[in-house]
Amino acid sequence: MIKKILSIVIITVVMMLSILGCSSVDVIETEKEESIASSLTEINGDKSEEKLKVVTTIFPQYDFARAIGGEKIDLKMLLHPGTESHSYEPTPQDIIAIQECDIFIYVGGESENWVVGILDSMDTSNMKIISLMDIVETLDEEIVEGMQDNYDHSHEENHSHEDSEYDEHVWTSPVNAIIIIEEISRSFMEADAENAEFYKNNADNYIMLVDEINTEFKEIVKHGNRKNLIFADRFPFRYFVETYGLEYSAAFPGCSVGTEANAATIAFLINKVKTEQIPVVITIEFSNEKIADVIAEETGAKKVSFHSAHNVSKDDFEAGITYVDIMKNNIEVLHEALK
Ligand SMILES: [Zn+2]
Repeated sequence: MIKKILSIVIITVVMMLSILGCSSVDVIETEKEESIASSLTEINGDKSEEKLKVVTTIFPQYDFARAIGGEKIDLKMLLHPGTESHSYEPTPQDIIAIQECDIFIYVGGESENWVVGILDSMDTSNMKIISLMDIVETLDEEIVEGMQDNYDHSHEENHSHEDSEYDEHVWTSPVNAIIIIEEISRSFMEADAENAEFYKNNADNYIMLVDEINTEFKEIVKHGNRKNLIFADRFPFRYFVETYGLEYSAAFPGCSVGTEANAATIAFLINKVKTEQIPVVITIEFSNEKIADVIAEETGAKKVSFHSAHNVSKDDFEAGITYVDIMKNNIEVLHEALK
């Protein structure tokens, strides 16, 4: 316990120093101190530590862990529903939750570079750590014709993390999702052998659902009239298109910070839609849809939304929406896009 409190103190000091380094805000410091105090009370007051404690950073692995662990696990997603996953920063409570968990599941890409420093500052000897990017084959982020590369290369020397060149959106391929579900279920079975059969059955059932989706995507691609998708938006679907042999044009790569496309990019996409008579122009969830509106108006193409499952809205989260639900909706969208 003393070790834990010590490391929490160290983490707090590190966090405060980093806050001071950016811009000093006394109110935030006070709030953080209060929230640490209340989290410590929660931890000390919790005597029922029977369930496997699982913490995930973003939605996909939260959904997989929920499907496998059900009521047998104590599950927490650090990202709040309805918020943009790329601007997430861990709160002191989040750091304590990681410290206290048995299994921590993160993606491991550039957006989660913060994880490395936090894990380094902790005693992780009793914790199983799963990085999605470590268990599937990773692909480089790609700049394709017409795309606007808004990545600020002047900051490159500050991004020393080895995964920074890789596209982090591995879960957008249902084939990868199956590999990830298998790995998560293995870790649950090892950490809580008593409930191994429960986890195994749940994982098998969920894999069956994801595999059905995989089959449906394959069928749609096979019977589609085209292979090219137009994303008037960011493009976190590199793994998805790779899995199904699709081609794409997009305004921005990966989850680039860009939301304002330049005239050349918009003109390129408009021209592509017109010359190839593409029926729909695609946006992603939580988008301002501005680029898609311009292209739809100019070309008459229909605007549709493809969901990347980084996160879900608060309403959807409370209603218990799943990765499978999201992908089922994407099946409809893909069907329309390949007509
Ligand atoms: Zn992303």
